[in-house]
Amino acid sequence: MTDLYRLLPEEMEQLVMDMGYPRYRADQILLPLYYKFPKDLNDIPQLPKKLRDDLIAGGYTIGSAKEIHRIVSEDGDTTKLLLNLTDNNSVEAVLMQYDPSKIGGHPRSTICVSTQIGCAMGCVFCATGQMGFETNLKAEHIVSQVIHFAEILQQRGEHVTNLVFMGMGEPMANYDEMIRSVKILTHDRGFGLGQRHITISTIGIKSGIEKLAEENLQIGLAISLHAPNNALRKKLVPTASPNSVEEIIELGGNYFKKTGRRVTFEYALMAGVNDSPEIATELARLLKGNGSHVNLIPINPTAGDFQRPSEKNILEFERILSEAGVNCTVRIEKGTEISAACGQLRTDLAGQTGPNFSKS
Ligand code: SAH
Ligand code: SF4
Repeated sequence: MTDLYRLLPEEMEQLVMDMGYPRYRADQILLPLYYKFPKDLNDIPQLPKKLRDDLIAGGYTIGSAKEIHRIVSEDGDTTKLLLNLTDNNSVEAVLMQYDPSKIGGHPRSTICVSTQIGCAMGCVFCATGQMGFETNLKAEHIVSQVIHFAEILQQRGEHVTNLVFMGMGEPMANYDEMIRSVKILTHDRGFGLGQRHITISTIGIKSGIEKLAEENLQIGLAISLHAPNNALRKKLVPTASPNSVEEIIELGGNYFKKTGRRVTFEYALMAGVNDSPEIATELARLLKGNGSHVNLIPINPTAGDFQRPSEKNILEFERILSEAGVNCTVRIEKGTEISAACGQLRTDLAGQTGPNFSKS
């Protein structure tokens, strides 16, 4: 069985030509796949019946994600889904909408996708990390998460504007499938999302960052740093070695040089762990002058015994960085009350300890 959402447009063309049909038939599959979201080959009536039958006989299918649970934040801006993918794995995907009347700018509908079930990196504050690694998602399963939300948005007359790889798993540890999904989602004959509207978040896997820099794509990169020195980082990210903090910052710099895309360093702020003024000063010293951007994420208490710092401490941390000339923002919290942090919904459901879930 091959899911048609796995194929790049060029591969789709090759497929129909190998089956003895003219090249243009590929577009008659691609257009509906990315704009009408059929569930079945028979939902594409403009395709000749013989081609549909040949594709079905050849084991080609159209995969779709099935919603197991949907929870929506009180303000309606965040929708978190637990999706069943074709191989019966459940995975989290989140839609975050930003209302310009509240924060300015343009309306945005950002999808956050998962790339793995679980994660081998074991970050101590992360629900996914504490789950351990289960499996890598295939490219088509990453694409399906976006398609599922695209269909929901289309029904409201809206569309996907941004995509972040910040759900469950470490994207660089599933590089080939992750990058295939990016190429399909950004292809102008695929889903057609602008490369600049995509951000990949990584714990800092060197080989992955280096490969991504060579792809000739305008993708944004976020590196999860969480600490200004190796001793503290190792406590929070047990698999952190052999990449030192200095090496990670250098990797970010090289990515910027190669792509022209500025790198964001993510920093999950945990009370009494990595939020002191001394640590802020150390972080400022480390990043000063290299043009990087820091995104402070007050922790969402999900795993371990970590607490969010007080607002006063968060602002003080931000002030120290800003005054040292380090560009810095505090992430706007989206969907905290619906467990929007990475891996949390699946964990909550496993223990049935979460808020009230509405079955979809
Ligand atoms: N594995 C990648 C991408 C997925 S995690 C990475 O680590 O970057 C995406 C982001 O969510 C990371 O910055 C991670 O630090 C953050 N995160 C994980 N658990 C969190 C929690 N409990 N509260 C706030 N942010 C969290
Ligand atoms: Fe994996 Fe990212 Fe969670 Fe760390 S924060 S365990 S790298 S998903």
